[in-house]
Amino acid sequence: MNKNAFIPYGCQSISEEDISAVNEVLRSPLITQGPRISAFENSVAKKVKANFGVALNSATSALHVACLALELKPGEYLWTTPNSFVASANCALYCKANINFVDINPLTGLISIEDLKKKLEEAKLSKKLPKILIPVHLGGSSCDMKSIYKLSKEYGFSIIEDASHAIGGQYDDEPVGICRYSSITIFSFHPVKIITTGEGGLATTNEYSLYQRMKDLRSHGIVKEEMRLTKTNAPPWVYEQQMLGFNYRITDIQCALGLSQLNRLDKIIDERNFLLNKYKYLTKGFPLRILEVPKNVKSSVHLCIIRLDDKNPIYHRKVFEILQNLGIGVQVHYTPIHLQPFYQSLGFKKGDFPESEMHGTNAISLPLFPGLNESQQSQIINALEIAFEKAYKEN
Ligand SMILES: *Cc1c(COP(=O)(O)O)cnc(C)c1O
Repeated sequence: MNKNAFIPYGCQSISEEDISAVNEVLRSPLITQGPRISAFENSVAKKVKANFGVALNSATSALHVACLALELKPGEYLWTTPNSFVASANCALYCKANINFVDINPLTGLISIEDLKKKLEEAKLSKKLPKILIPVHLGGSSCDMKSIYKLSKEYGFSIIEDASHAIGGQYDDEPVGICRYSSITIFSFHPVKIITTGEGGLATTNEYSLYQRMKDLRSHGIVKEEMRLTKTNAPPWVYEQQMLGFNYRITDIQCALGLSQLNRLDKIIDERNFLLNKYKYLTKGFPLRILEVPKNVKSSVHLCIIRLDDKNPIYHRKVFEILQNLGIGVQVHYTPIHLQPFYQSLGFKKGDFPESEMHGTNAISLPLFPGLNESQQSQIINALEIAFEKAYKEN
C-alpha cells in the first residue's frame, strides 16, 4: 500500500464469512422479513444479557420508536447532551416534544452528573422536568448509569441509553445494553460503528410491553396475531392497524451481515482497545490528552478523541487542516447539537453549554478501526508532530 494513502477515521471490516452469509440470504426464498431478523435480535439480546431486542433500519428509527414506546407526548421534555450526533435530539422533535440539553464533563466528554443534578433541581421548581433522558455513551464509554438511575427515581424520568457507539462495551462488569439502569438501550450498525449491517439499529429492553410496542411501531402499527386482534373470529387474511407506525424494518440481507459480524465482536473490541492503548503510549509528551475512560467502564473504543492543550480555536482549526492535508481522516465528535442552525432557530444560543462548545473547537478524533496497521499509526503520529509544530509557529 502507498505509504501516504489517505487513512479514514473509521472503516468497516468485512470478512469472507460476512460475504458468504449475505450471499446465502440472496439465494434463499426470503430476503426480508425472514428468519434472520429474529435470529439477529435474539443473538444481540443474548450477547448483552437483555430479555428482548428489536432490530430496525437505523438507530435513528430505534430512538424514535423508543420515545414513542415510552409515551413521550407533545409538549413534554426530553434531555440529552449537546456533544452527540443530531439523532440523539431529533427523536424528541419527531414526537413534538421539547428538547433540552445537559452539558458534559470535559475529561470524559460524557454527560456531567453535577450539571444534571443542578438542572433537575431548577426544572422541578419551574415544573419542566424531563419525561426522558438520553445519556450518550460517547466514543463507546458508558455514562455513570448508577448516578443517572438514582436521579431518575428521585425526579421520575425514563432513561434511553444512546449506545450507538458502545456495543461490546461494559459498565460495572456487565455489558452495555443489559438495561439494568435504563428502560431501553439503542445500538447503531452504520458502517463506521463497531459492527455493521450496512444501515441498521437495534433496541434492547427487559420489558415485554416496550418490546411489543417498538415491534409494532416498526411496521405501520400493524398487528397480525389472532390473540391481539380486536375482532373475534376474524377470517385468516385479517390484519389490524392499531396505532400509527412506520416502515422502519430491517432486511434479512442486513441481519445476516450483522449475525456474522457479531461473531467477531469480542475480537474487534480487543483490537480497538489495543489501538487506543498504543495511541496513549505513542502520544506521551504531546500537547494533548486523550478523553478518559471512567474507572468502572470498559470502552468499546469507537473513537480516539484527543483534546488539544492549547484552547485557541484558530490553533485547533490549523492542526485539523494540516492533518487532513497530510492524508489523515480526522473528524470532530462533535460540534454541539445546539449550535446547528436548526437548533439555533429553536432558540438555543452560543454560550448555553460552554463545556460542549469548548469541546467542539478543541477535540479531534484520530483514525481508529480494525485493521489499522502499525505503519499507518506511525504515519498518523508523524503527521501529529508536524501539525503541532507548524500550527504552533503560525499561531
Ligand atoms: C450514529 C449515531 C446515531 C444514529 O445512528 P444511525 O444508525 O445512523 O441512525 C445516533 N446517535 C449517535 C450518538 C450516533 O453516533
